[in-house]
Amino acid sequence: MRLRNLLLVAMVLAAGAVPLTAQKAGSKKPAAAPPAATAQDEIAKAAETLRPQLVEWRRDFHMHPELSNREERTSRVMAERLKAIGLDEVKTGVGKYGIVALLKGTKPGPVVAVRADIDALPIQETIDVPYKSQNPGVKHACGHDAHMTVELGVAQILSKMRDKIPGTIKFIFQPAEEGAPAGEEGGAKLMIKEGALENPKPQAIFGLHTIPALEVGEIGYMSGGAMASADRFFLTIHGKKTHGAMPHMGIDPVLVAAHCVLALQSIPSRRINSLDPVVISVGAVHGGNRYNIIADEVKMEGTLRALNEEVRGRVQQMMRETLAGITSAYGATFELSFDEGSAVTYNDPKLVEETLPTMRRVVGDANLIALRPLMVSEDFSYYGKVIPAFFYFLAVGNKAKGIDANWHTPDFDIDEESLVVGVKVMANVLVDYLEFHQSHP
Ligand SMILES: [Zn+2]
Ligand SMILES: [Zn+2]
Repeated sequence: MRLRNLLLVAMVLAAGAVPLTAQKAGSKKPAAAPPAATAQDEIAKAAETLRPQLVEWRRDFHMHPELSNREERTSRVMAERLKAIGLDEVKTGVGKYGIVALLKGTKPGPVVAVRADIDALPIQETIDVPYKSQNPGVKHACGHDAHMTVELGVAQILSKMRDKIPGTIKFIFQPAEEGAPAGEEGGAKLMIKEGALENPKPQAIFGLHTIPALEVGEIGYMSGGAMASADRFFLTIHGKKTHGAMPHMGIDPVLVAAHCVLALQSIPSRRINSLDPVVISVGAVHGGNRYNIIADEVKMEGTLRALNEEVRGRVQQMMRETLAGITSAYGATFELSFDEGSAVTYNDPKLVEETLPTMRRVVGDANLIALRPLMVSEDFSYYGKVIPAFFYFLAVGNKAKGIDANWHTPDFDIDEESLVVGVKVMANVLVDYLEFHQSHP
């Protein structure tokens, strides 16, 4: 939070201490109309009117949370609403319970996509609110109920503004962002595999995530590597069982494992440029069964995080080399495998640069916050591997109201005022994108 405040101060100073919105409100002469003024005004008015509906939608999703790849009701209700709005195409069953819907503007132009994830988490809700989860042990604790609501609100508003949309908007509602159950496919990867980014192919994609650490009204963003890749690794060290009093007769995998844990930590600190963030965490170590027996093997599990795909690949290779060297020094052997999770969420710098003025116009300069990258991961990253992508953060915190619980906690909540902000920002971002790229193909 210290960084954020510093940035805020820097931005306010740069803007002459007066946010753009305040300048506009305070001046007697009407300000020169920005290029998308008409659309922006229409969106703003419609979003304000939609406020009670947004809250109702969000509460309904919040009260009926469903786990990854089990979003049967969520998907059905969403599809009904999208059809009621009158979108041009509503395709269900993409990547299990995923939905891909199209909104065609009356003017020709490019195709842009927006994605919201729809799954909840196996967490028992503890907050006492009228919209408390009705599904015991399951809760929207990552704010995906808000993501869906914002995207639905955008669809609702823009469906009434087709004359101002030069091109097509593809709405993607994606299941299983939190990870499919063991043995199942799911999430962004499966939706892409099943054609979510084809027919028509969008030329860019946007997405947003709630962030409780920022105050409602703010938008956070990063350019370039924004969220980390997440690879789970499995490591087995093979030794040779013997009596605990005669270790020289065997090969002690516990000692070798200890050296391996230390050596792995030397990769980020000594072999990778310190300006390239890498995390290697060994989260579990299991081996041996009795105090006076040298074990025959030790099994470990951990996570590897990186903010750059090239570094990610290099670290995987260095882990193999390091483990080969350590284990051979003791006459042990090893097996290492990676279960590759989400890729690096990469925000295309050019797309970010051309989108920021829109965000600044909608929320005001002081409310647009540059954030440091996060070492948590997001499967939105897979879309960014196919087309330019921008994933930004919608502030949902409100300290005065006591809303600041972190993601994935039993008392996570959002300030529902953020829904209107989210709709305004995303609707403007999409319309501006289409307008800009229609004239700059
Ligand atoms: Zn989450
Ligand atoms: Zn999430």
